[in-house]
Amino acid sequence: MKVLKEYDMDNISIATIGSHSALQILGAAKKHGFKTIVLCKRGYETIYRKFKIADRIIVLENYREMLNEKIQNLLIRENAIIIPHGSFISYLGYEGIKKIKPPIFGNREIFKIEMDRKLEREFLNKAGLRLPKELEPEEINTLCIVKFPGAKGGKGYFLVKSYEEFKQKIKEQKLDISKITIQKYIIGVNVYFSYFYSPLQEELEFYGVDRRYETNVDSIGRIPARYQDVNPSYVVVGNIPILLRESLLKEVIEMGENVVKISKEEFPPGIIGPFCLECIIDEDMNIYTFEISVRIVAGTNVFITGSPYYYVLFGRNVNMGERITMEIKQAIEKNKLERIIT
Ligand code: AMP
Repeated sequence: MKVLKEYDMDNISIATIGSHSALQILGAAKKHGFKTIVLCKRGYETIYRKFKIADRIIVLENYREMLNEKIQNLLIRENAIIIPHGSFISYLGYEGIKKIKPPIFGNREIFKIEMDRKLEREFLNKAGLRLPKELEPEEINTLCIVKFPGAKGGKGYFLVKSYEEFKQKIKEQKLDISKITIQKYIIGVNVYFSYFYSPLQEELEFYGVDRRYETNVDSIGRIPARYQDVNPSYVVVGNIPILLRESLLKEVIEMGENVVKISKEEFPPGIIGPFCLECIIDEDMNIYTFEISVRIVAGTNVFITGSPYYYVLFGRNVNMGERITMEIKQAIEKNKLERIIT
C-alpha cells in the first residue's frame, strides 16, 4: 500500500511473467491503453516480440531474479501492477511472492492454498464442496489415485485397486510414501470452471469452462486395451473449450459463491478477481472438486476472443485478461485500487 501511494495513477503499467496467460493479459491491457511489461526467461522473449503486446521486455536468467531489488525498483518506477498467473505462483512460491514490493492484483495471502494440499482441502471442505474421498493405504478397496507432492502435471501418479497392489507398487518402485495422498479415483469428465469475483461490484461472475488436454492420459484410449498397461501421466499440453449443459450452471455458480464467501472469512479480504475450480463430474452428475486455483488459469486462454458467458453478460467479446483490466481501470477511476491489490 505504501508503494501504491507513490504511484502516478495516470501512468499505471501492467506487468506479468512471460508465460501461461501473458498474451491474454497483456493484449487486453494494451487494448485498454496501459503500458505493458513482460518479464521473460531468456529465449522466451521472442514470443512477446512476435505478438507485439509488450512495451517493455525484461529478460531474466531465471524467474527468481524478479525478487532482486533492481527489478523490483524498476517495476515500481514504471508504476507497475503485477498480474499473477500459474507460472508466477509456481516459480516464485508463496515465500517469494511475499517479498514482491510492487502491488499485485489479487490477494497474495490466499495463494498459499495452492502450495499446500492440506490447507487447500480444508478450504474446499469449508466451502461445502464435494471432494474425492481420501483414504489410508490399508483402506484401499476401490480404484484409487496415488498422488505425490510437487508432481508437476501428475507425473508419477499411479492407480491401484487394493492395499496389496499398493504395497507391491511402492516396493517395486522404492517410493517414499511419507507425503502421498490417496484419493478415490472418480470416473467422470474433467471440467475446469473459471469465475471472476469483483470486489468493486461485490459480485461473482461465471466466465467459462475448459478441460485440459493431457499426455499421456488422453492418448491411452487410442491404443488397444492390451497395451494400455502404463501409468497415466497428466502433463498439460493445452486446453479445450467446453460449453456446459445449462442446467448445471445453477450448482456451479453456487459452488463459486460458496468459495467467495469462505475466502472472505478465511483469508480476508477474500478472493480478488479470477479463480478456477477443477472438477470431475461422474455418471450421476455429482461434481467433485479436486483442486482450486486462486488466480487466472491458462484454461481461460481458450476464450481469448471472448468468453461465451461474458458475451451474454457484457454484450461483447471480453476475455479474462480484459475483465482484469476493466476492474483495474474502474478502481483507478474511483480511487479504489487498494480494494483489488495486495
Ligand atoms: P492434480 O495433481 O491433483 O491436479 O491431478 C492431476 C490430474 O489427475 C488431474 O488433472 C485429474 O485429471 C486427475 N485426478 C486428480 N484427482 C483425481 C481423482 N480423485 N479422480 C480422478 N482423477 C483425478
